[in-house]
Amino acid sequence: MSRGEVEHVLREKRAWIAEERRRQVPRLGLERLAVSESEARVGARELVSALAQEEAEQLGVTYRRIRIGGQRTLWGSCSPSGTLSFNWRLVLAPVEVLDYVVVHEVCHLRHLDHSQRFWRLVEQRRPGWRDQRDWLRENGPELLAFKASE
Ligand SMILES: [Zn+2]
Repeated sequence: MSRGEVEHVLREKRAWIAEERRRQVPRLGLERLAVSESEARVGARELVSALAQEEAEQLGVTYRRIRIGGQRTLWGSCSPSGTLSFNWRLVLAPVEVLDYVVVHEVCHLRHLDHSQRFWRLVEQRRPGWRDQRDWLRENGPELLAFKASE
């Protein structure tokens, strides 16, 4: 590449980087939150446990235990042995979003897959679940990137 070509590419890249930066401006205002991870985990466990217990009772299913984790890629999971895992950062999301993730995982206690039967059950339990899924798609990356003050 000639020097001129190199400079041209760099200029284009700079514009691209600036554009990416602009798009990644935090929208949730999380940077203002002075919450420690241990506080957030305690809050997440309380909320998640209450919601999971209520939903499991309604569905007539049982789980073995609840794990609160800090995965950078995952909101929740349900293991075949009945352990429900949730990301503590959910406590920073709107409560309907946290509620949806909990209900989603509790529904997996009945159907451990993403089959039509599974989604029908989710739909029945939380008819507005798509809004929460969309919220997670939109804001999830920022939430997952959040670092607590501790
Ligand atoms: Zn699922």
